[in-house]
Amino acid sequence: MPITCGLQKPKQLPVKKAYTTDHMRTLPNSPSHQVSTVNFRPPGFSRREFLRASALLTLSAAMPGCKTGEGGWGPEPIIDIHQHLGYSGRSDEVLLAHQRAMGVTKTILLPAGRPVNTASTHDGRSNGLEAQCLGNEFCYRFAKAHPRHYLFAACEVPDLPDAAQQIEDYLKLGGVAIAELKFGVECDSPEMQKLYELAAEYRVPVLMHWQHKMYSYGFERFYLMLEKHPQTTFIGHAQTWWANIDKHHTDQSVLYPKSKVTPGGLTDRYLSDYPNMYGDLSAGSGLNAFTRDEDHAREFIQRHQDKLLYGSDCNDHDGQGSKCSGAGMIAAIRRLSPTKDIQRKLLYKNAKRVFRI
Ligand SMILES: [Zn+2]
Ligand SMILES: [Zn+2]
Repeated sequence: MPITCGLQKPKQLPVKKAYTTDHMRTLPNSPSHQVSTVNFRPPGFSRREFLRASALLTLSAAMPGCKTGEGGWGPEPIIDIHQHLGYSGRSDEVLLAHQRAMGVTKTILLPAGRPVNTASTHDGRSNGLEAQCLGNEFCYRFAKAHPRHYLFAACEVPDLPDAAQQIEDYLKLGGVAIAELKFGVECDSPEMQKLYELAAEYRVPVLMHWQHKMYSYGFERFYLMLEKHPQTTFIGHAQTWWANIDKHHTDQSVLYPKSKVTPGGLTDRYLSDYPNMYGDLSAGSGLNAFTRDEDHAREFIQRHQDKLLYGSDCNDHDGQGSKCSGAGMIAAIRRLSPTKDIQRKLLYKNAKRVFRI
């Protein structure tokens, strides 16, 4: 698709949307934030929400982009909720080309925490999300330099003493999620619960990488967190999350099962039973969950059509072909979605709503 750039008006802003019913809701658990220290804040708008909306405004207005319709250069905008900067050493230019090749119009960059040698980073092995991914400041600056097509999340090693503060700093700058939480920590540890509460306060989702005996421990008891933190939106991702769509997935050491799927696995139940649980379709694990049993995938998509979010999370350079799971997943969604409307939900509408883009 040709891109037409020139002098255009800055994009209309999330602030405008913020006056709609959805954004007028106040935060039930933060009455103190109703006390304004900011002028011109609309009634019913918490101070934190206002600060965040203002940050998004600044971000969007920072650099006029290409005026090519709602989302960018395609007739059908696609939101990719899961990519990284510096991924396996990939350059910024190659990332930009990769996302364009996939037809993605809005990308959310998920930072790593800062590099430390702790048990939660497996003595440093998991620094950079185990893939040289860059941290908050890089993602924030990149999004600021490419405001029409990129947003950023906020992240930190959860058990560092100032983790919540670090994350909050970047949420104030416009971070749209707490992600990617890919650390060797119990899913119900006090440190993680502090982040769940912070996410609820800022009304941003928390995205977690579930990988047996490696990242986010305690998947089988995660429902306790879903119940304890009903105001927090959780997004599940990675091998253990996707392997457990199958009721008969018993050997948790198998990360990419290939067998036919019987509905009713833990992941299927979390998605069905908890309104605050969503699924990130990114990476080989997401693609495998659909391609291992396409008949099941059609029903699964039908069942969870409002809960599934497209993401790529691939580190290839091309944005197409067999090495690009992100392009593979876009094709799978188009092939397996029962209706066009459901396809649009997975590729765009659900993410727009959940991330309040
Ligand atoms: Zn990732
Ligand atoms: Zn790719």
